[in-house]
Amino acid sequence: NREEFVPRIGTEETKQLIDSINNLLIEFNNVENWRKQMMEDLTHELRTPLTSVLTRLEAIIDGVYPKTEKNLQDIYEEVERFSRLVSDLQQLSEAEGARFKLKIRKVSVDQLVRGVYEGFLFIAKQRKIKMHFNPPNMPCTAYIDPDRMIQVITNILSNALKYTAPGGDIWLSIEIQEDSFIFYCQDNGIGISEDELNLVFNRFYRIDKSRSRDYGGSGIGLSISKALVHAHGGQIGVKSKFEKGSIFWVEIPIDNQLVSLEGQRKSTE
Ligand code: ADP
Repeated sequence: NREEFVPRIGTEETKQLIDSINNLLIEFNNVENWRKQMMEDLTHELRTPLTSVLTRLEAIIDGVYPKTEKNLQDIYEEVERFSRLVSDLQQLSEAEGARFKLKIRKVSVDQLVRGVYEGFLFIAKQRKIKMHFNPPNMPCTAYIDPDRMIQVITNILSNALKYTAPGGDIWLSIEIQEDSFIFYCQDNGIGISEDELNLVFNRFYRIDKSRSRDYGGSGIGLSISKALVHAHGGQIGVKSKFEKGSIFWVEIPIDNQLVSLEGQRKSTE
């Protein structure tokens, strides 16, 4: 019977089909725009250090730039910065990529944060900055990717250390909510002005390029953190007062079983 082979699509189904095709197209355009923007940013960011190194090496070969230890050291540091930038970029493109998968485990959040905190005590002492850790009043377990979460906390904490003067303080704390936890990192450092607050999570954004450069910053750390937090279904934000200090916060769902199953499946592949 020929009639059986005629697809019976009603108006509602047709509408749904058109909607899904449109959504796919929007998604495709977003990915395409992201790719284009990424290429533009990349070319711009990579060209500057590369040109600087090439010009100086050429000048040495031509004999117009003395081959002193200091000059060679400067070139070496520039190449090191370049190499750091490339590995940051690799991480960013992985974390923002559509196929990025977390390796979810059941983790004690307070122990994880304490581990990062203890790892930074020595460098904080060297920089004469006091660090304080305020653990939650009860244990907090969550389904998260521990390595990625350590990366986020490390990035926020190392920024706090970079942008706080000697004699300053950094406070870490964890707040447990009904179905999420919030990690806070507060400092009384240089702060961020209001109009730049939302920009710090954009890739390659540095408030004061020359100052960040002294610390080897490429303005990618917070965009990697944002991508990792979003991959966990969480949120990241900052409150700050210029010249007074900043509070970075990260809120992560505690029990994301769906993400967890995905991650487990992927990690056993
Ligand atoms: P960078 O590698 O330059 O530190 P990030 O993406 O980690 O890049 O940070 C982006 C910018 O946000 C930094 O260049 C800095 O200007 C600003 N920033 C980040 N954390 C802090 C902080 N705790 N206090 C003041 N400014 C900060």
